[in-house]
Amino acid sequence: MKLLDGKLAAEAVKEELRLQVADRAVNGKKIPHLAAILVGNNGASATYVAAKVKACEQTGFISTLIRLEENVSQHRLLESIHSLNQDPAVDGILVQLPLPKHISEQEVIDAIDPQKDVDGFHPVNVGKMVQGADCFVPATPLGIMLLLAHYKIDTAGLNAVVIGRSNIVGRPMSILLSANSLPGNCTVTLCHSRTKDLAAHCKQADLIVAALGQPLFLKKEMVKDGATVIDVGITRVEDTTKKNGFRLLGDVDYENVAPKCSWITPVPGGVGPMTIAALMKNTFLACSRK
Ligand code: NDP
Repeated sequence: MKLLDGKLAAEAVKEELRLQVADRAVNGKKIPHLAAILVGNNGASATYVAAKVKACEQTGFISTLIRLEENVSQHRLLESIHSLNQDPAVDGILVQLPLPKHISEQEVIDAIDPQKDVDGFHPVNVGKMVQGADCFVPATPLGIMLLLAHYKIDTAGLNAVVIGRSNIVGRPMSILLSANSLPGNCTVTLCHSRTKDLAAHCKQADLIVAALGQPLFLKKEMVKDGATVIDVGITRVEDTTKKNGFRLLGDVDYENVAPKCSWITPVPGGVGPMTIAALMKNTFLACSRK
């Protein structure tokens, strides 16, 4: 079994970006600027946004963090987005999800200028991704593609199973893996909560991407020998032995599955850091396209 080390691969992506940003600075070109909007006090969301801001510092990007109250009106949030859309200094905009229940996530996503939509959730970018056109690809699936590329995993012709069909992870993942690209060219099965005999689908897969948010869901009986397993899941479970009171669990029963795999991602330290690296890459792209 070999580890797909997301921390290591993410550092490589960020270092490359850092050098490119330094080069832009020397040549008097614009420095990438990411604006993040965080609504409310969700602990996990605050942690993710803080990690993104830190990654901006590491790579030499400029970042702006806008914090809004949990009870902020949708109108007020949309106003913030409109002003960032119009600000020529800002290259990339992200609104940390999930949002409070009284706000329509889709309307918020639709309000972001597609040219600044570095999370790749806007319908214009989703449509372009489906067509294989130049666009912003959602950060988590893009991060997984970068990870596969970093470790030179040859995915052509593989049977891939993606578990989970969300708009931010599973569905775009299935599209990217099935694309005529490198990595890509897989034969993809997209599974979800209504899939019959999910274990049988997994058992014939050369590559499994588990993105369902059910801790330790993927068991060793569901994985064939030599498979590559990507664990996207992150669930906080209470753990009083930890200083922060919780630990993170993936969707894969890592301890028992890992010995059967040719490659596997750990949690934490797998897909999480790659998601952030991919967001940085998208922000750099948004800046350099101008
Ligand atoms: P969603 O809840 O939006 O989607 C979950 C998907 O999994 C749905 O399609 C659902 O099916 C499917 N599903 C749920 N239970 C089962 C089951 N028992 N069998 C088969 N399919 C099932 O989650 P997200 O896609 O947003 O996130 C998934 C996980 O990835 C979470 O743990 C999240 O925290 C993590 N995540 C990690 C990131 C990272 O950077 N590492 C980034 C983003 C997410 P149905 O559609 O039928 O309801």
